[in-house]
Amino acid sequence: MSQNHPYRSFEVPSNAPFELKPSPGKGWGAFSTTKIDRGAVILKEKPLFVIRKPHEQITEEDVWTAFQHLAPSAKQHFLNLRDNACGPFTHMTKAFAENSFEVSNRTWLGASISPVHGLFLLHSRFNHSCIPNSKIPTNSDEIVTSFATRDIMAGEEITFCYNDDFECRNRHERHQALRFACNCKACLIGTPFQQLSDIRRTLIRGLNYLTHGVDVNGQRQEGPTSPIIVDRELKKAAENFCIPLSSRLIYELLVAYLLEEEGLLDDLRLERLNPTLWQITGSFHTESNASIARLAMKQKSWLEKFCMAFGLYGRADVADHVVSKGLRMLRGLSIES
Ligand SMILES: [Zn+2]
Repeated sequence: MSQNHPYRSFEVPSNAPFELKPSPGKGWGAFSTTKIDRGAVILKEKPLFVIRKPHEQITEEDVWTAFQHLAPSAKQHFLNLRDNACGPFTHMTKAFAENSFEVSNRTWLGASISPVHGLFLLHSRFNHSCIPNSKIPTNSDEIVTSFATRDIMAGEEITFCYNDDFECRNRHERHQALRFACNCKACLIGTPFQQLSDIRRTLIRGLNYLTHGVDVNGQRQEGPTSPIIVDRELKKAAENFCIPLSSRLIYELLVAYLLEEEGLLDDLRLERLNPTLWQITGSFHTESNASIARLAMKQKSWLEKFCMAFGLYGRADVADHVVSKGLRMLRGLSIES
C-alpha cells in the first residue's frame, strides 16, 4: 500500500539527507539516508502557502482562497495530504492545521503583527519526540530551516519537538497537550529514564520559576493547585527578583546539567545559556564570590561546574540589591521590593 501512497509524490530535494517512508505506529516519517552531523542543516523549506491570522481564526474560506491561488501541481500536493487514518481530510482547515506551523510572530514598533502560519509538506512529515534530534528555531522569515541537535545516524528517524515548553512538562502534561500518546524514551512508561525524566523536567520548571519569576506560560502561579514552588517566601522572592546572584548561578548551572542528562542541551540552547551564565559570573562584586564563580565556570562538565558553584550557596553579594533592582526595572515592576 505504501508504494502507492500519495506522499510518494512529495519531492524531497536531492541534496536533503533524508527520505520519507512509513514510520511504525506514526504514519509517515522522515528517515536519515546518511549520517547527519550535529548542527548541520537538514532542510530549508518554503511554505506551499501562508495564512496571516491567529490559528484559531483561520476559516475554511481562508484556506480555500489560498488554495485557489496555487499552481496545479501545488494544488495536487495539498489534495494528497492524508489524515491519521490515511484518508483524505474532511475539512481544508483540518488539513491546514495538521500540516502547518507558525513561522513568524513578530512585533513592529511595539505593536504585534498577526502570526503567520505556513503549510509545509516535508517538515510536517517529521514526527514528534520529547527528546528530538532536530530543531526548527523560530525565525523572522517564512522559510523554515531545521538543524540536527545531535549526530543522527543513517537510518534513524528525524524528529522534532512540537511544543516549546516540553522541557518543563512531565509525561502526563505533555500527552495532554499533544493529544496522542508519544512513545519516545522520555515517555516509555516503567523505565528508570522515564521516571527520572519526569523529576528532571519538574525540577527545570521550578528552577526556571526561581530565575524568571514566572511559570512557563509567562504568568505567576496563583492558587494552591500543584504548586511549583511550595515555599511562599521563596516564591515571593522569585517573583520580586530577590533571588541572590549566588543562587541564580547555581540554578542556571543545575538547569544546564538536567537538560544535558535529559538529552536536550543542544547548541541553540547553549547559545542562549552561555551569555546568561557569563553575565551572572561577571555581576558578582564580592571578590570571594566572584573567584568561586569564575572557578566554577572553568570546570569541564556541567556537573563539575554546578558542584563548584554550590560552594556559593547561601552567600550574599554586594551586588545583589543592584541586580534585583535592575531586573525589576526590566520587568516593569516597582524598583523597591
Ligand atoms: Zn515523548
